[in-house]
Parts: sequence; structure tokens; C-alpha cells
Amino acid sequence: MKLLLSNIITGLDDGQKELEKLAVQKLKIKLNNIKNLKIVKQSVDARKKPGIRFVYSISCEINDGIHISDNPDIRILKHVEEEPLNPGDRQITGRPLIIGTGPSGIFCGLILAQNGYKPVIIDRGSKVEERTRKVEHYWKCGELDINTNVQFGEGGAGTFSDGKLTTRINDSRCDKVLQEYHRFGAPDEILYRSKPHIGTDILKRVVANMRMEIERLGGTVLFDTKAIDINISDGKLCGVLTDTHSNIDTNVVVAAIGHSARDTFEMLYNRGVPFQQKPFSIGVRIEHPQSLINTAQYGEASGHPALGAADYQLFHKQSNRTAYSFCMCPGGLVVASASEQNSIVTNGMSEYKRDRENANSALVVSVGPSDFGTSHPLAGIEFQRIWERLAYKAGGSSNHAPVQRLEDFMDNRAGGLGSVKPGYTGKTRCADINECLPKYVTDSMKEAMAYFDKRIKGFGMKDALLTGVETRTSSPVRIPRNDTFECIGMAGLYPAGEGAGYAGGIVSAAVDGIKIAQQIIKTYAVPR
Ligand code: FAD
Repeated sequence: MKLLLSNIITGLDDGQKELEKLAVQKLKIKLNNIKNLKIVKQSVDARKKPGIRFVYSISCEINDGIHISDNPDIRILKHVEEEPLNPGDRQITGRPLIIGTGPSGIFCGLILAQNGYKPVIIDRGSKVEERTRKVEHYWKCGELDINTNVQFGEGGAGTFSDGKLTTRINDSRCDKVLQEYHRFGAPDEILYRSKPHIGTDILKRVVANMRMEIERLGGTVLFDTKAIDINISDGKLCGVLTDTHSNIDTNVVVAAIGHSARDTFEMLYNRGVPFQQKPFSIGVRIEHPQSLINTAQYGEASGHPALGAADYQLFHKQSNRTAYSFCMCPGGLVVASASEQNSIVTNGMSEYKRDRENANSALVVSVGPSDFGTSHPLAGIEFQRIWERLAYKAGGSSNHAPVQRLEDFMDNRAGGLGSVKPGYTGKTRCADINECLPKYVTDSMKEAMAYFDKRIKGFGMKDALLTGVETRTSSPVRIPRNDTFECIGMAGLYPAGEGAGYAGGIVSAAVDGIKIAQQIIKTYAVPR
């Protein structure tokens, strides 16, 4: 019999032996009756300082017939058979095509490949090794490649990231995502930590391993290949034209293009694909010394090796806006993330160890269609562009990101650097970030600051460093789908992931890709 035991509480220095002891106490049986004890979930309870603890859920097996005491923390785990995926009978012309190797595209491709569908996957950007070289060149010299950058290329937008695998969606496919990442090289702990993360150094290997597996299963992955047009006949998709001048004939196309493929959105819009405006958030990256965040969150236990670098999540609801922290990267870097010339865009990343000096997080404020100025479905993109170009200008029109001490930001003056040095991957210049964002956004950020400082002691330190601007928090558009996940009015086109407005983050994008693969399998026969 397999059991799940929850609410097992240990100190920071306790190990497997203590877990076994507590399992024995909870079950009220002898240790030699317990087999295969495994951690299912580990979270940190830092509400009481001192006295930070780990809270575990663990699974184990016991022999049938052993009496188990009645305890709400003990549950029998039943084996649930995965529902078989039975292929449909419609015919695919050619092979299914996936545009994009981000989490939604690669997971869609993996599931199709695992089921014999041999997908073709294209990405406008380069393979991860070449992509890393081009991205580092941009960070060093300011020369941007508009097809291979932090947004575009193998692994998609999340390749240069913290690789946080937390999500707010509740879908059983999330486990599949974690298991596959683990199978392709992510550390064991992503399977049980409550806030798992991979880190960009490991993630790069993982995405390359996934691509090689798809190829091994008969799929084809083409890099430096951009979809530049779609062919339509009688309202149905029948192929995609690429910039390598090849036409890929197919009646099944998954558009997993991410939230930054503005030219591709425009092409699809001009071809009659329906788009809707969608709210998102804009603001800045804020950096603090990681040691300050550790002390605020863990008190005396700050620096304990079992805890690692602390994170935070902040949220301040105002009358009609919300200011909040987003995509926090402990011990990380602020990433120069533009995908268009003459723009500055920030984001954050960390390596697995999260051992850089600064903690960074986006500090953003919600914006929506009423702010975009027109009802054009792509107006949100134009809205992002305005602030990205103002940031470029504020940085001296030479690919320097504008940076500002928090105190100077509050007082609307450019100022200079303080004790927190920029952890930005490119060059920076001191400037007034108030000039790169709408006043209602900077006012909301300022209003929230006193509250955030109460939640995280020291958050409002005068030298905290802001870098502008953060505009790509989620997609500014949504492509409406029907109940078989096809684009409304265009049979055969499957808009997927974050760019289409169905995900926000690595795991939810991957889950959306899996959902679409499963739908394609249910609809179409395995191509011969
Ligand atoms: P994307 O990952 O954006 O992939 C889209 C792909 O499509 C790209 O590779 C692009 O090159 C390709 N493409 C676009 N247009 C075309 C075309 N016309 N032809 C061919 N290919 C095309 N999320 C988290 O959950 N945790 C994090 O820690 C995290 N950190 C992040 C850090 C950074 C720096 C960034 C930029 C994002 C981060 N995110 C994080 C967000 C996360 O990366 C995205 O939510 C996720 O990647 C979306 O997946 P996707 O597959 O929908 O799209």
C-alpha cells in the first residue's frame, strides 16, 4: 500500500534519518515496515524567526494488512492509470509543423514525437550554443540580432532565465513537465521543492537534450528559419512560407511564437487571424543586496546552506491598479532583453547556484486596453514600444539601460550610483526613469514602496537600484481559440503558449503545448 504523509516538520539541519523517525511516529509502526520513503514536497516555513523549519510531504510503501492510525495527515495513494491517447482519423497533409522552440513549442513537439507524429519544428533564432554567443555579443557590444536574442532562439524566452518552475495553474500535466525537465537533466529537487528552479546554466543543456530526443524520435528541428507567411485555402491553413524560401506544406500548424514576435503577430493579423487586446504590466527591475533579502526573510538563519538565497513576492492593490513584484531572481542578473533595435527591455535571470551579489525582481504595475489609446487589436504592442524607445533614449541612444537609485526615482532626478552596483548584463547610464514610463505607473510604484518596505525590511533602501524598462511581462494580445484549440476562423492553426495569451511562464506554456499535442493526436491519424 502506498501512503502520502503530510505535515512532517523538521529543523534546517535534519536529514533523511529524522524524516524516517517522524514517519514512524506518524504511522505508529516500526521502521522495518516502511519501504521506499521519498520526498514529494518540501517547503520552507519562515513565519517564525528564529525557528525556520522545513515542512515535508513524503510518500512511502507499507505491507498490506498493517494497521494505520486514523490521522488526517495520512492518505492512501491510489494508482491512477494514464488515459491512453487514441489517434484520430483525419489525415495530416505532410507533417505537423510547430513554429517556436520555447516551452510550449518544444513540449508540443516532444509529445507528438513520442506518439509517432514526427513533427517539424522551426525557430527564427539559433541553436543554444550559437544563441549564447550572439546574446553575449549584444550584452558586450550593444549589437542586437533581431532574430537571435534573449526572446528568440532555442528554448524560447526562458532559456536565459532563473528557470523558476512555479505556476498558479492547477493541471495534472504540470507533473509531466517537471518529470520531463528532470529526465533531460534538471536537478532532482525540481520534483519536490515547492518553488523549484533550474537556472540558466542547466536549462541550456536541458533544452538541447529535449531537441535531440525529438530528432531521435524522427522529428526535424530547423533553426535560423523564420515563418514569414501562411498559405490559406478556403479558410483553412495549408502551409507556411519561411525566410529560407521554403514552403512547408501542412494543414496542422502550431503557432508557439511567444509574446515578442511582433512582426509575426502583424503578418498573422494581415492574413485574417483574429487578435484581441490583453492586459499586462510594465515597470522596472529593482535590485537589492541579496544579503538584505536573506536577512529580511530568514533572520538569524540567513546564509544557512539548506535555505539558499531567499526570494520574495510583493503585492499592493490600489484603487484601479496593482503594483507587484514579478519574476524575482535571487542572486541573479538583470538581463538586457530587447528584440527590436533602438529599444531597452529588462528581465531577470539566475544560474542554478543563485550566488550573485544582488537580488532582482520586476516591479510592475498593471496596464490594460484603456491605457493603449486605440482599439486596434495590436495596440498593446505599440504601447510597449513607446516606453522601450524612451528607455533607449534615456540611456543616451547607445544601448545603455537607464538606471536610478530608488531615492532619486522618488525625487524625480537622475542622480548617480550608490552602494548597489548594477547587475545588468549590458551597459548602463544614470537617468530619470520617471521619463520612460507613464505617470500613473510611476505613481503606483511610489505609492506601493512604503508598504513593500514594511513587508521586506530594507526594501525601500535609498540605494536600491532601478533599471528600466520592464515591458514584456506577458503577451499584449490574445488569439481566440475554439474548444479544439484551433484559431477561430482558421482551421488547422493552433495558437499556443504565452504569445497567444494562454500561458504566463515556463510551466504553463509547456502545459499549453502538451494540451495542443494531445488534441492533435486525438484528431489526426499518425502520419505515414
Ligand atoms: P517563447 O518561449 O517566447 O518561445 C517562442 C519561440 O518562437 C522563440 O524561440 C522564438 O524564436 C520563436 N519564434 C517567434 N516567431 C517566430 C517565427 N516567425 N518563426 C519561427 N520562430 C519564431 N518564466 C518562468 O516561468 N520562470 C522564469 O524564471 C522566467 N524567467 C524569464 C526570464 C527571461 C529573461 C525571460 C525573457 C522570460 C522569463 N520567463 C520565465 C517567461 C518564460 O520564458 C515564458 O513565459 C515562456 O518562455 C513562454 O513560452 P512560449 O513557448 O509560449 O514562448
